[in-house]
Amino acid sequence: MMAKRDYYEVLGISREASEQEIKKAYRRLARKYHPDVNPGNKEAEEKFKEIQEAYEVLSDSEKRARYDRFGHAGMDNGGAGGFGGMGADFGNFGDIFDMFFGGGFGGGSRRQGPQRGADLRLDLEISFEEAAFGTEKEIGVPRQERCDTCGGSGAAPGTGPKQCPVCHGTGQVRFTQNTPLGHFQTVRTCHRCHGQGTIIEIPCSACRGSGVVQRTRKIKVKIPPGVDTGSRLRLSGEGESGVRGGPPGDLYIYFNVRPHKFFRREGYDVVCELPLTMVQAALGDRVQVATLDGKVELNIPPGTQSGSTFRIKGKGIPRLNGIGRGDQHVRVIVEVPVNLTERQKELLREFGRLYGSEPKGAKEQEKGFFRKVKDAFMG
Ligand SMILES: [Zn+2]
Ligand SMILES: [Zn+2]
Repeated sequence: MMAKRDYYEVLGISREASEQEIKKAYRRLARKYHPDVNPGNKEAEEKFKEIQEAYEVLSDSEKRARYDRFGHAGMDNGGAGGFGGMGADFGNFGDIFDMFFGGGFGGGSRRQGPQRGADLRLDLEISFEEAAFGTEKEIGVPRQERCDTCGGSGAAPGTGPKQCPVCHGTGQVRFTQNTPLGHFQTVRTCHRCHGQGTIIEIPCSACRGSGVVQRTRKIKVKIPPGVDTGSRLRLSGEGESGVRGGPPGDLYIYFNVRPHKFFRREGYDVVCELPLTMVQAALGDRVQVATLDGKVELNIPPGTQSGSTFRIKGKGIPRLNGIGRGDQHVRVIVEVPVNLTERQKELLREFGRLYGSEPKGAKEQEKGFFRKVKDAFMG
């Protein structure tokens, strides 16, 4: 092993150096030789270890006195944590690094800066018509707001936050850590004030010291025409208040559209069913159909089949982009007559004799089927 250099020499200070001078020299050198600043540089690493070791001894008045009297020999037997494990791991570099570059030693604070408030989500149920044509609604948004009683400080009116007695307002505490390399001072966030540097002695009764209160705020929301279940509306700045002067979050409204008893929605189109009697379907008729804008007349041509659909242009949902509307699709359901009187049955039997016993559709289907089979063979 190389002969140990004198600790004072390592730190480049005189034997009469004050505590402040030792600290200053150490900080300057440690910054220069820290392994994080010199990645892969073995020489710098060795130098850094040497500097740490020297500081460890000279910054401790008891160890320094012993070193002054006995030199390195005094240290090796002195039980000062032992410097034998020079090749030991450097897992604690992080803390030491923090101590310098996080401004811990100088008493600078590590208090957190402004924080943006949380975003809020509100699920809002609206009617089919409200979704179609838009509406204005007043909604209650439960959210955390700055306490008016204490102005957000959390301290009872007339009192103020006090400097934390544990960290003296720095938000950090230093403590000594035992490692194979010796005792190191590390800096941690103060447990008493959680790094705030201040504590509240008499908490505000309105917010119990938190500085925020839960309040339901009434907001008027303009719901645009065309929203659907799953549509989302963002209200900028209507979320929770920011922390320490940060901006507020946003409020997101998710829509849930109640089903309509008559209409169904497909995109911007409206679908509905229209029951017709067998006679209406066979002979044709003019019927009234409900739309979102009231009733309109629809012409049912003779021979309308059950399941056929009529389109009423422009009676659907207004598009969210404000340009145009969807259509309404009217699907015809032909009712088979039930609960017939004897006279009705008689007439239907007579009609049956004239019409033929086989449905026209069956013949068409059959024809189509044989054509397909033929096509398959003739290829
Ligand atoms: Zn308060
Ligand atoms: Zn504190």
